[in-house]
Amino acid sequence: AKEKNGSAFVYYDDNIRKKTLEDSTLEAEAEPAIRNGEFRLYMQPKVDIQNGNRICGAEVLVRWQNPRMGLIPPGRFIPLFEKSDLIIKLDRYMFEQACIWLKSYLDGGGRPVNIAVNVSKVGIFQPGFVEYYVAVKKKYGIPHHMLELEFTENILAVDTELFSDLVIKLRKEGFLCSLDDFGSGYSSLNLLKDLPVDALKLDILFFRKSRDVRRERIVVSNFINMAKQLNITTIAEGVEEEDTVEFLQNADCDVIQGYIFAKPMPKEEFEAMLGGTDHL
Ligand code: C2E
Ligand code: CA
Ligand code: CA
Ligand code: CA
Repeated sequence: AKEKNGSAFVYYDDNIRKKTLEDSTLEAEAEPAIRNGEFRLYMQPKVDIQNGNRICGAEVLVRWQNPRMGLIPPGRFIPLFEKSDLIIKLDRYMFEQACIWLKSYLDGGGRPVNIAVNVSKVGIFQPGFVEYYVAVKKKYGIPHHMLELEFTENILAVDTELFSDLVIKLRKEGFLCSLDDFGSGYSSLNLLKDLPVDALKLDILFFRKSRDVRRERIVVSNFINMAKQLNITTIAEGVEEEDTVEFLQNADCDVIQGYIFAKPMPKEEFEAMLGGTDHL
């Protein structure tokens, strides 16, 4: 059954070829696209559910406004960029753009908010990693504790001790550090005892339809309890349903980021939202 005789196989083969071709085009276009400002900052509000559902910040999420292909979501190019240095360039660019936005927002009299930026694990063990983020934060005069760096949980599979050292350095420089996608894979609860992070982002999968909501909620509320006792903020990501909000409020979760309140939006829209009613 390995012969190439079904049309379905040929079609599949064709698709792979097309995707590989497109991959190399995207790779070739990436650096000029950074220079041309084609990578846009989208922001998804984070809502403080223990204080009247007030917006307390946002996560910065990249979108590629590609002249040929339109708006491309990060799932299409981030994994590709992670195969090379491109991801480091893009992450640095996004971080600087976030600082530029935050500076102008604060200069315009905006109240303090917490802005979180994603950092791929590819770049963090390279020399100069901490120095870059510290220098850019200083360049734009961003006050302490307004910038948060999100590291995906699977960083823990790389080198926990080295990662801990980076987190300690960054926190000394006034960054908040959070663990993204917590509970999705490699996390060992045991590791948390040595890892001085400020926040845990409970993985989106916790809040998808599950077979047994009761069991799921027991697990989630115990994560929240544990975090609370370790003085770590909890952020529930990907919440889409009203009854989940209620559950999380009662379970003492601090923050929700999910479609139930708002989808990621262009930075201008987020700023307008902050200026208007800042309760969701
Ligand atoms: P992430 O960091 O886990 O970001 C959360 C993702 O969940 C976002 O997808 C967001 O739009 C989505 N989301 C939030 N709330 C809901 C909800 O209620 N329902 C559903 N179905 N989805 C929700 P997005 O923007 O497509 O980003 C996907 C991933 O791409 C991110 O996952 C992150 O890993 C990566 N990414 C995005 N921007 C950057 C960046 O600047 N640098 C790096 N290294 N990675 C980035
Ligand atoms: Ca994230
Ligand atoms: Ca996440
Ligand atoms: Ca669920």
